[in-house]
Amino acid sequence: MAEVNGNPVAPDFSRRRAPPMGSEASAAEVEQLLRSQIPFQSDGELVLPPRDGGGVGLVLVDVSNGFCTVGAGNLAPAAPNKQIEKMVGEAARLARLFCERSWPIFAFLDCHFPDKPEPPFPPHCIIGSGEENFVPALEWLENEPNVVIKRKHCIDGYISSIEKDGSSIFSDWVGKHQIKTILVLGICTDICVLDFASSALAARNIGRVPPLQDVVVYSEGCATYNLPVEVAMDVKGAVAHPQDLMHHIGLYMAKGRGAKVVDRVVLEPS
Ligand SMILES: [Zn+2]
Repeated sequence: MAEVNGNPVAPDFSRRRAPPMGSEASAAEVEQLLRSQIPFQSDGELVLPPRDGGGVGLVLVDVSNGFCTVGAGNLAPAAPNKQIEKMVGEAARLARLFCERSWPIFAFLDCHFPDKPEPPFPPHCIIGSGEENFVPALEWLENEPNVVIKRKHCIDGYISSIEKDGSSIFSDWVGKHQIKTILVLGICTDICVLDFASSALAARNIGRVPPLQDVVVYSEGCATYNLPVEVAMDVKGAVAHPQDLMHHIGLYMAKGRGAKVVDRVVLEPS
């Protein structure tokens, strides 16, 4: 830390020069360096036994228009985005696999009342806007009997599930289906997915969600938004959020809280 008259002072980032345009290569190098300092080991693949799914429940986090459909709102991608498209594809694949076998699915959908902002985020997923609904590839889930849909009004789906009397629709779902493992997919890896996974793990540790044992985050089934530093520095008040790095950090943080992070989910051949 810098010193003035022998006293430590925080570095003044406001005076730091922004990197010149065309410096993508060095930004990539910095990202690589940051990643190399916080590596984590994948837990490999999750294999679903064909007969009963092995007590796995699928949890989908905010696979909605407001976060995934191009141009659908303030927090939706402005242009097609490969990481988000892959996440939606994997969510649809696994949702279909679970529904065909009547295995349990719990889906969170972020939604807000027009007069109740959610700082620091701009208005998003306002009730009635259409942003708060499933992406087209998952709309069919609304009519599936094995799917519980929880419209949540805050970032952390676990907290949103707790009613004023202390009951929890999520804990009830885990208990009813005797779920030992939750497989978590959705958006954003480092925000709603991370907060939900962390809270579920904390609750598991104090026996609030029996018989839950494992929280498994599927890396290829998660995504986050992209706000590159070179764009953010031209937008007043914006905070940079480089997609690949923040996705990595979200998985790293989840792993640090005790989640398993897998990069493949397969059905065991029968
Ligand atoms: Zn929200």
